[in-house]
Amino acid sequence: MTESRTITLPTEDHGSVTLPEPTWCVGHADHRPDTYRADILHKGPDVTLTFRAAEVITACLAQSPFATPGTPSLGGRTVGVSVYPPGRTLAPVGLYELASFLDSYADRLRDLADQLTSILAGGEGQ
Ligand SMILES: [Zn+2]
Repeated sequence: MTESRTITLPTEDHGSVTLPEPTWCVGHADHRPDTYRADILHKGPDVTLTFRAAEVITACLAQSPFATPGTPSLGGRTVGVSVYPPGRTLAPVGLYELASFLDSYADRLRDLADQLTSILAGGEGQ
């Protein structure tokens, strides 16, 4: 049984706002009372690709339950996955597409490593 929970957050334009808190949300510890209601953001844990202490790409579940209708790729009332870079919110199809592009990119990196190995061994490209 899942128990629905709510949170109450102070806002600049609507006073205290009580809303359902999704189970995947990490909470609102960084919420500021001068936030507008439309800017309330549920956010899941970051899924980050870090290489040698540098962040390459990060993604997380995100939802702005009071967002005004706008550009869906910039987030909104529908739960999506926020990806940075490029700073877009993706639906499942877009996420699968991104994963496919990353697979292809990994192959290109391996090709580049093969080429570099050959060059350093005195082969092609010297
Ligand atoms: Zn939340």
